[in-house]
Amino acid sequence: MLVRMNRFPEKLAHHSVSLRRVRPEILQVNVGKLCNLTCVHCHVNAGPKRKEIMSRETIDRIVDWLAKTDIPIVDLTGGAPEMIPDFRYFIGQVKSLLPRRHIIDRCNLTILLESGHQGLAEFLARNSVEIIASMPCYSPENVNAQRGEGVCEGSIAALKLLNSLGYGIDPDLPLHLVYNPVGAFLPPSQTKLEADYKRELKLHFGIVFNKLYALANLPIGRFGSYLRRNNQLDDYMQLLIDAFNPVTIDGLMCRNTISIGWRGEVYDCDFNQQLNMQWNNGAPVFLWDVHPDTIEGRDIMTGDHCFGCTAGAGSSCGGAIAQSRL
Ligand code: SF4
Ligand code: SF4
Repeated sequence: MLVRMNRFPEKLAHHSVSLRRVRPEILQVNVGKLCNLTCVHCHVNAGPKRKEIMSRETIDRIVDWLAKTDIPIVDLTGGAPEMIPDFRYFIGQVKSLLPRRHIIDRCNLTILLESGHQGLAEFLARNSVEIIASMPCYSPENVNAQRGEGVCEGSIAALKLLNSLGYGIDPDLPLHLVYNPVGAFLPPSQTKLEADYKRELKLHFGIVFNKLYALANLPIGRFGSYLRRNNQLDDYMQLLIDAFNPVTIDGLMCRNTISIGWRGEVYDCDFNQQLNMQWNNGAPVFLWDVHPDTIEGRDIMTGDHCFGCTAGAGSSCGGAIAQSRL
């Protein structure tokens, strides 16, 4: 059995801080590992050949559960979440709920222009779906090195399409970008990087967007293998541990987010999901088996990878602490 190191609780104790769940505000659903890209930093090991995708039956069970709660935000991730056959059905079902829910799509941009996905951007705009899009750099060399040849050009074309539909301009169509480093280092200041992105994307391509989230790469999945192959895992881990910042704890996504896998199983976050750290220590717990009132105050399962969320200005999925939460 794989024994994972966990120096995180000791670090929390040393700083007299604790990590516990608050009332859930976000249901983050990872609909599967299918993706049109195979990025170097991917913590999901996603790709075009992955077969794990959410079925309509699972979607229905999730929406039924959600209907019994007042959780206001549904955050769809993957893989490329748009590639599952029932992506639009899922959004339609969530949109039909009362009280109304806000939907986020974590989009790799290039999928918006792939054949077989015609009208996808228009569909997202019609349903006021917020888009959080990966864009590791504004320079083609860096984007293509991390995500694959031609990805930068495709991303730029997709951003132009989104702007033409009002994304990044209309307050009902938020468009945020996500930066993550192309190697074993921490992201620079989010505020400065956002200003650089805004200036360069506007100047060279006429593109506008709302916010930039600068996220550290967690040493798991494909990025973990990359570090291991290059003998950088220990150094990167130490970098994260040395940069621990207790102020980041309150903003960690695992405090107010429930993470759901493609079969409906429950985790504290998408990173724990990729490490198979299911609630109940591995015995399957599905969302529909969880009573919503039992979530607040639950312990959060941690590991050494958690240092990736607490390094420097903090990462998780909400960006650095200087920025407002999603
Ligand atoms: S990082 Fe995102 S776009 Fe890239 S392979 Fe993973 S899921 Fe796909
Ligand atoms: S990886 Fe990050 S979000 Fe997940 S449990 Fe650890 S600190 Fe929380």
